[in-house]
Amino acid sequence: MGFSTLVWRSLRLRCPMCGQGRLFAGWFRMRAECESCGTRFEREAGFFLGSIYFNYGLTALVVAIGYPVLLFTRTLGETKLLVLTLAFTLLFPMWFFRYARALWLGFDQFMDPRHRTDIHFTPDTETPSHATADDAPATAERPAAVGPSASEERS
Ligand SMILES: [Zn+2]
Repeated sequence: MGFSTLVWRSLRLRCPMCGQGRLFAGWFRMRAECESCGTRFEREAGFFLGSIYFNYGLTALVVAIGYPVLLFTRTLGETKLLVLTLAFTLLFPMWFFRYARALWLGFDQFMDPRHRTDIHFTPDTETPSHATADDAPATAERPAAVGPSASEERS
């Protein structure tokens, strides 16, 4: 799936997999899965924490550029500018909330694509297989890594 297709689906707040189903049922209320293709949107617990990168990042970027520009060009009085900036930092992330999540979903689909066959896996069946796949090498390596160094210290 192309990068531009995913961005376009995100900006329209649509499912990254099919581009049809809506991501949100309300302003802050996300659907659990795609009404069109059945993709579960929350890939694992805490998945959407990553969307904060998009929301905070863009808010900070706009303020970091906009505030000094407006201040030094004396476009607005200092008090007005402060009030405007404060209002922006409170309201913009709320408005952008849905887009941040949609962009995060699209970004995730681009970096770590899910395929049609993965779609109907629930997080309950998906998480343990990921966990064991990630844990297995770590637990297998740990005793081997500790073993030789511990025996070397003893001898
Ligand atoms: Zn879908």
